[in-house]
Amino acid sequence: MKVGVLGGGQLGRMLGMAGQALGFSFVFLEPADECPASAAGEWIRGGFDDPAALDALAERSEVITYEFENVPVAAVRAIEARRPVRPSAASLKVSQDRLREKEFFRRLGIPTASFEAAEGEAVLASAVGRIGLPAVLKTRRLGYDGRGQRVLREPGDLSPALAALGSGPLLLEALVPFQRELSVIGVRAASGECAFYPLIENHHREGILRLSVAPAPGLTPALQARAETYARTVMESLGHMGVLALELFHSGDELLANEMAPRVHNSGHWTIEGAATSQFENHLRAIAGLPLGATTVRGHWAMVNLIGELPDLPPLRGATGTHVHLYGKLPRPMRKLGHITLGADDAGTLMRQLEAVWRTVGGSPGPSAFVVSLRASG
Ligand code: AMP
Repeated sequence: MKVGVLGGGQLGRMLGMAGQALGFSFVFLEPADECPASAAGEWIRGGFDDPAALDALAERSEVITYEFENVPVAAVRAIEARRPVRPSAASLKVSQDRLREKEFFRRLGIPTASFEAAEGEAVLASAVGRIGLPAVLKTRRLGYDGRGQRVLREPGDLSPALAALGSGPLLLEALVPFQRELSVIGVRAASGECAFYPLIENHHREGILRLSVAPAPGLTPALQARAETYARTVMESLGHMGVLALELFHSGDELLANEMAPRVHNSGHWTIEGAATSQFENHLRAIAGLPLGATTVRGHWAMVNLIGELPDLPPLRGATGTHVHLYGKLPRPMRKLGHITLGADDAGTLMRQLEAVWRTVGGSPGPSAFVVSLRASG
């Protein structure tokens, strides 16, 4: 099977690596001058809006997928006349607009924070009147890794936030006092069969995912079932094929949906070593029309992102139960350069290993606040 991928970042690279074991080959369309995925297949260097590049991708592929949700829907529409694109443009379209996404969750009966469209000072002020403060003002499009949002705590914050976020369409949400952030990763095959990985607890700093722990500490079957129901409802209503990640706030007894990604997800990288079938292999199985692989997880797993610069690698490479993944990217502030997966039979051992890795990775300031909070929650 020849798989074409819109995007050639680390997600494409890990898809390609998983696919090679299945005997698949890959071609990536990536506009940037660096293409981490090119280690795992051909690279067409061209824009997502370049008809010749899209044509070349379709020509060389049997099925096409994407590893980046800001691919223009028009690019997918142009290709899908020639080759199947999975997940379809429907999944992409919903996930590209934070307002449309929240309205979609609401229609499906999936709880979210209170939200309203908020364009311009007058509309924003009246939306703040209904939703209250504190709240979060977000751009509807092109927000990722914490970009495109501002927290509003007092009326004086409205004007500067509007000025900072530009003139495009905006969304106002109540600020959720969540205990923790979770994600559920599901996969839906062409046959309609669905499978799910255990809920993952995620820790962000400066808007970027730093650490994921799976199964989420204190996970109960009821919480898992609820998250699976939400993710299944989303996938079924879109006729989704492939992996889908749903990011959730755990608030009181509730799970509130924050956003979805119609692709393999950073919080699922630990599945490479930690699950019977990784999210990458299962995504490929789903888009290729194969049966899904088992999502069984044994033991406890953590994933630490390597951001901005690489730590001293030899001690990490030598540590038991520790797997270093590098993406072949040049170091740059706030850039995801690789990740480390840690696995242990029990949660206590995992936390000890995590503390040691955290010190090496320089997860400053001081001893990790994340690990402390994990201990408290676990
Ligand atoms: P997003 O770009 O919507 O995924 O938001 C990035 C991060 O901002 C989330 O992972 C949360 O940590 C935080 N955040 C976003 N929306 C809210 C909200 N309504 N309440 C509290 N925190 C939020």
